[in-house]
Amino acid sequence: MRGAAIIVLGPPAAGKGTQAWRLGEEFGLPRISTGDMLRDAVRDGSDLGEKARSFIEAGELVPDEVVDRLVGIRLGKPDCATGFILDGYPRTLPQAKSLSLICGDMQVAVCVVGIQAGDGVLVSRIASRWTCGSCGKVFNAVNRPADGHCDACGAELEHRLDDSVDVFRERLDVYRKQTAPLIEYYRSQGVFHEVDGEAAIDEIYGRVSAIVRKQLAGPGTAAR
Ligand code: ADP
Repeated sequence: MRGAAIIVLGPPAAGKGTQAWRLGEEFGLPRISTGDMLRDAVRDGSDLGEKARSFIEAGELVPDEVVDRLVGIRLGKPDCATGFILDGYPRTLPQAKSLSLICGDMQVAVCVVGIQAGDGVLVSRIASRWTCGSCGKVFNAVNRPADGHCDACGAELEHRLDDSVDVFRERLDVYRKQTAPLIEYYRSQGVFHEVDGEAAIDEIYGRVSAIVRKQLAGPGTAAR
């Protein structure tokens, strides 16, 4: 194995983006967020964006073939050759199987970090979530810069359209039905690690980063 595919799995607002962001910085791996890629496509008005828009706004999943193609192209870029962090992908069993094939070809090991949190916590977080419209960094009421601009790239922070409570409930429902089964899929392969997502951000990161550090240092995997 030449590196690792770190998959950050969990319900919407579990903190995947925040943790994936920090992992990318610490371990020098590219963070690939299908949510960000799809929102960029919507903003650019591309054909793919037009296709994705109605699904995103309704809180539904964009069809597998669209997302798989997007991810396949991104993982083919040279910066992914020795590993990457996936945030928001895979979200269905067919996506997970498609990713397994790619990881096999690339000879990267799969390591899944599952961030768990109850529905009540997730819904209460959503109202205070702010996202950078440019680089996708996520903030909450406590760590949001007072000037309303991203501390990583300087762009304006915004509330996402699909972060309204009604759409969010639909997204949670979609998660339970279509994405939660991936936990068993990865558990049966012995690559699933669960982390409590209701703790403080730094505490969660301590656990998440320990799992990733161990994975990257493991036998046959290039540590970076
Ligand atoms: P969150 O970080 O709250 O979990 P994301 O930003 O990852 O949300 O995703 C927002 C929306 O983008 C999803 O509700 C879905 O419509 C679409 N999307 C993102 N990733 C995928 C995927 N892997 N498969 C299908 N749709 C996706």
